[in-house]
Amino acid sequence: MRLANLAGRLVIVDGDSAIDVERASVGVFSADPQLVYERWDEFLDWARRTRLPAGESYDPARLGSPAPSPRQIFAVGLNYRDHVDEVGLAHDVPVVFTKYVSSIAGPYEDIPHPGGEVDWEVELVVVLGRGGRRIPAEEGWTHVAGVTIGQDISERVTQHAGATPQFSLGKSFPKFAPMGPVLVTPDELADPDDLALETVVNGETMQRSRTSSMIAAVGPLIAQLSSVTTLLPGDAIFTGTPSGVGLGMVPPRFLGVGDEIVTRIEGIGELRNRVVAGDVIGA
Ligand code: ZN
Repeated sequence: MRLANLAGRLVIVDGDSAIDVERASVGVFSADPQLVYERWDEFLDWARRTRLPAGESYDPARLGSPAPSPRQIFAVGLNYRDHVDEVGLAHDVPVVFTKYVSSIAGPYEDIPHPGGEVDWEVELVVVLGRGGRRIPAEEGWTHVAGVTIGQDISERVTQHAGATPQFSLGKSFPKFAPMGPVLVTPDELADPDDLALETVVNGETMQRSRTSSMIAAVGPLIAQLSSVTTLLPGDAIFTGTPSGVGLGMVPPRFLGVGDEIVTRIEGIGELRNRVVAGDVIGA
């Protein structure tokens, strides 16, 4: 199943059409796309048992993030071996930080340039349908509602200002977390642990890899995070980026106003975001 947030309402996407969940369920399920994760098992059961009405055509420009307001966003740094090598930070344990919820954007929204050094990072994002603590790695996927595409847009000057890197702040400017266009349930994917992903900037391929190259795959990541924190339904996990970020290039390359970022993951679709003039840091 493919779910989306159409102008703030939860829809099931069927080809080029969308079925409004609140109307199709006669109010049993809320229109709020974030609330479905609280009742995920019940929702799956309803969707399986119900003869859904025909969908209606829709304008993709009205899509928002399929998880617009998670209570927690986890983001994982240095989780692809080639990316670890490119930035020269060898380690054994993935680095965990957050992107603040206010940075979430829709799949086709513009990204205001805050000044500094703005970089791209394609990432598989998993959204949880079940929370928990001390979840074994082999049960990790059973806690996932679905996967979507994320861009972990990063401003490197802010990220590196201070005595230690502060990933969370440098990656949380407004619209720095575009997500979408749909949430795909894992059963739709032949192997959810092996998906091609890429970032293309102004037509030039910058990143191209497969999620099977992660150091800690989705199951082990969920185990690691839940060994410390309590995971909650609707939480989003940005699972890290492969090599090809601008910071790792010689010389480094960053995004400017007018640039277009296309972010693709196999079996999910693509994000399309343009960088626009914005409020500059410190102004
Ligand atoms: Zn990242």
